[in-house]
Amino acid sequence: MLKIDPPNYQYCPFCGKGLGVRVEEGRKRKFCSSCSWTYYPYVAGSAGAIILRGGKVLMVKRKREPYKGTWMFPAGFVDYGEHPKETVVREVKEETGLEVKTVQFVDVIQADDDPRQIGHFIFLYRVEVEDGEMKTDEEENEDISWVEIKNPPPIGWHGHKLVMKKLQEKKY
Ligand SMILES: [Zn+2]
Repeated sequence: MLKIDPPNYQYCPFCGKGLGVRVEEGRKRKFCSSCSWTYYPYVAGSAGAIILRGGKVLMVKRKREPYKGTWMFPAGFVDYGEHPKETVVREVKEETGLEVKTVQFVDVIQADDDPRQIGHFIFLYRVEVEDGEMKTDEEENEDISWVEIKNPPPIGWHGHKLVMKKLQEKKY
């Protein structure tokens, strides 16, 4: 269990009234007395791809904060209504330009360091891609490369560091 606080909302997103607090099943919940909305802090999801080739794995270099200039596995937030499996197919296409052939579930990792969604699950997949020309997603990344698992470039996200560690230990 990670010790992380969810966003501390002050106002009802539906009617704008200041939120009060009520106790529900022994837990304090923020509550709107005007429209009866209860705030249950939710956990968001993202999906990430491990794309292997020999002793190398495909990574992208971030162009934006957070962790600008560090490397990560192709990944992104799950859109509303999307299954994480669909997310990983979409993100790999967006971030690498490559078509996905196969997708295989690997693990769920808890993230704790994304200021946009503190505390979200990363659904991790092993992905095989078609051969083709790689293209950098100009908006998000400044580089894309097959990196040596034994000697990776600097990685920012805690969760992605963990994934690399497990790859090095041959646990994925
Ligand atoms: Zn309200």
